[in-house]
Amino acid sequence: MTAASPEIPFLDLVAPYEELRAEIDAAVARVLRSGRYLFGPELAAFESAFARYCGRPHCVAVGSGSDAIELALRALDVGPGDEVIVPSHTFIGTWLAVSATGARPVPVEPDGELYVLTGDTVEAAITPRTAAVLPVHLYGHPADLDAIAAVAGRHGIPVVEDAAQAHGARLRGRAIGSGPSAAAAFSFYPAKNLGSLGDGGAVVTGDPAIADRLRLLRNYGSRVKYVHELAATHSRLDELQAALLRVKLDRLDEWNARRRAIAHRYLRGLAGLDGLVPPRTAEWADPSWHLFVVRARSRAERDRAAAALGAAGIGTVIHYPTPAHRSAVYAADHPAPQPIAEALADQVLSLPIGPHQSSAATDRVVAATLEWHARR
Ligand SMILES: *Cc1c(COP(=O)(O)O)cnc(C)c1O
Repeated sequence: MTAASPEIPFLDLVAPYEELRAEIDAAVARVLRSGRYLFGPELAAFESAFARYCGRPHCVAVGSGSDAIELALRALDVGPGDEVIVPSHTFIGTWLAVSATGARPVPVEPDGELYVLTGDTVEAAITPRTAAVLPVHLYGHPADLDAIAAVAGRHGIPVVEDAAQAHGARLRGRAIGSGPSAAAAFSFYPAKNLGSLGDGGAVVTGDPAIADRLRLLRNYGSRVKYVHELAATHSRLDELQAALLRVKLDRLDEWNARRRAIAHRYLRGLAGLDGLVPPRTAEWADPSWHLFVVRARSRAERDRAAAALGAAGIGTVIHYPTPAHRSAVYAADHPAPQPIAEALADQVLSLPIGPHQSSAATDRVVAATLEWHARR
């Protein structure tokens, strides 16, 4: 590891603040002066704005994306003894949120080119214990929710979306979050497409009963102070984060468009590479381009490419180096091999992308990648 930070960082988290400094400073001052730090007007305004953005009637904001997934499942009565179908290839947070309910994550392999669940493989994993299907719009590319919801619907099983990486992505022209799932869970972790300056998350749903249960689950099981209807702790999005997210939500489409422009620049520059294969986009999908993930032919080649880009001053990250079922948490529980997830963990490499990355920086990444590819 070199001490110097890369000249082209994997992601610049300060640039968003610089661009929105006046608005963010004003929002922070407004909240600090209000004396109201939880469950105030900023939260209410953000929830209605995000519900509108997603095209769903209800939004219930919580403390993190992990809580959003866990509480959405618990609102559907998922718990001990249940199984929840999850992708084998995802951030382990998806699985851990299932485990937090007491249910067991059951992995299904993703499509080998799109890296997300498509529906055909989900049906075979359904058992009498399956209580929910939890597709992930990984890297910002939508899972085929229509196909998955059709399969799950035939079995009377609800679908909950892990949309932590997919704010603003679209599926067959419809916004992610708008359906056809029981609920969609979002994360506002700082590095996400819609990021707070701390932790945050939200569930959007069309079902008022789910929304009502979520409001209990996020607040001590209580709707009236000191009247407690169910066993729950709390998970809240504070006024400061809500105010910041209102500012950033107004920019989300514009910033996603900048990500798309970078992705298309990469796709043009890297077209046809066989040693570092660019991502494929389904014709029915409009990704949020949370990540731009290329795929090497082997772990050794991936690691050499990452080292070469690092030496050229370019930050890269591996999403994710250990498949969930091989992590110490699950290794004993899930011994079944997941060949697609295992290959992806060995071969994927995420190139820098973000709304503040210049075209010149993107071109430098392309040039360094092509140079590595020619010499490999
Ligand atoms: C970020 C993320 C989560 C967890 O969100 P937190 O806000 O960090 O709890 C879950 N699933 C996926 C796919 C994520 O990318």
